[in-house]
Amino acid sequence: MSQGKTLLHKVWDAHTVRELPNGQTQLFIGLHLVHEVTSPQAFAALSERGLEVRFPERTHATVDHIIPTESQARPLSDELAEAMMTALERNCREHGVRLYDVESGQQGIVHVIGPEMGLTQPGMTIACGDSHTSTHGAFGAIAFGIGTSQVRDVLATQCLSMDPLKVRRVDVTGKLAPGVYAKDVTLAIIHELGVKGGIGFAYEYAGPVIEAMAMEERLTVCNMAIEGGARVGYINPDEVTFDYLRGRPMAPEGAAFDRAVAWWKSVASDADAAYDDRVELDGNALAPVVTWGINPGQSVPVDGHLPRLADTQDEERASVAEALEHMDLKAGEPIAGTPIDVAFVGSCTNGRISDLREAARVAKTGQVASHVKALIVPGSQAVARQAEDEGLPEVFRSAGFEWREAGCSMCLAMNPDKLVGNQMCASSSNRNFKGRQGSPTGRTLLMSPAMVAAAAIAGKVTDVREVL
Ligand code: SF4
Repeated sequence: MSQGKTLLHKVWDAHTVRELPNGQTQLFIGLHLVHEVTSPQAFAALSERGLEVRFPERTHATVDHIIPTESQARPLSDELAEAMMTALERNCREHGVRLYDVESGQQGIVHVIGPEMGLTQPGMTIACGDSHTSTHGAFGAIAFGIGTSQVRDVLATQCLSMDPLKVRRVDVTGKLAPGVYAKDVTLAIIHELGVKGGIGFAYEYAGPVIEAMAMEERLTVCNMAIEGGARVGYINPDEVTFDYLRGRPMAPEGAAFDRAVAWWKSVASDADAAYDDRVELDGNALAPVVTWGINPGQSVPVDGHLPRLADTQDEERASVAEALEHMDLKAGEPIAGTPIDVAFVGSCTNGRISDLREAARVAKTGQVASHVKALIVPGSQAVARQAEDEGLPEVFRSAGFEWREAGCSMCLAMNPDKLVGNQMCASSSNRNFKGRQGSPTGRTLLMSPAMVAAAAIAGKVTDVREVL
């Protein structure tokens, strides 16, 4: 009896150019997303060899990592940022690559604009020189974060050589309680399976909780697949996916859209597909999650306590001790009540309109604590426009939040938005590594946007379920 196939294997097979002697597969890449940080050396390597971009029409560029969020007037005040911006403009011009710059009205974080433009579509292979490219898997695409030398290779050949992957199906059952979000689901999965648990795997997210999610929530879940060690994460495309894509600028139109839907449906995993592993998480039992450590797996429910070293497994004790020391937190203490200095809502994980709406709901309940600096950074200019149409900037400003221009901002702090000293930041981003937010001693607590807004108002980690 023939066995069904997973989406990963269908998309992989459809894009296989050839099997390589070393066991890798040469895959054709349907969409290449480019930004200013990982592309300059790649374009330079092309020029040195006299090569052109192989498929400029499949290559789309934006500026996100280095762009300031206060004034984006040119020249940018940071000389290095201005040089990177200029290099991207020149490279795109010379190679015929479409650039979504600040003047375009379509600029934003690469993983926000791909979906909102309709560039990201089911059944695609996608590559981008950024770790969180897994985001695009929310549409049923296979999306790889790649390094600069691979960016060069994709620019020159539109192909990537990839190791084969196993597929782990992650079913989230039940229904989320109010105040529990996609961010909590993805953090809980990483906590459960570990930050290295996904190495060698693609994660297929499924089950009633995932199926009930809107596209933007699915993007949040897949965004953090990489934080659990998975090479890619994806969700099978369904009517939610097709409805989201209908009418997007780069999506097919009319009869072509209907034909595309037929193909998109066909790439979903078969009911009898075989998986290399299956795990289940009870969505009914989830609470808002907060990280307390220096990797995204070191987290607790907001009503939980930090681990005690005595209760920690031998192999984890050293990293728990290191994390507690860096975070200046005490073992066994409750996470709720931890004071914060900075609050950041934004990033490719949680900088979309639905994220801002949830943060605004909370912002309406009070004023930012006097000692807290609170930033709201839309993920794209389109998100900012939508928020302005809904009056959200005014809600935030009235509550004491700063409303900024679109960009990565304090997710990676490659622009002027940085923590200072050992400031503690409640952040809706995706990484809490040491130094991630611009200060080597800075401290990051990852949580949902609503939880960030609640922390900004309380001045400390607080349970958003008590606020809403
Ligand atoms: S928001 Fe953060 S993770 Fe996302 S693309 Fe920007 S720097 Fe990378």
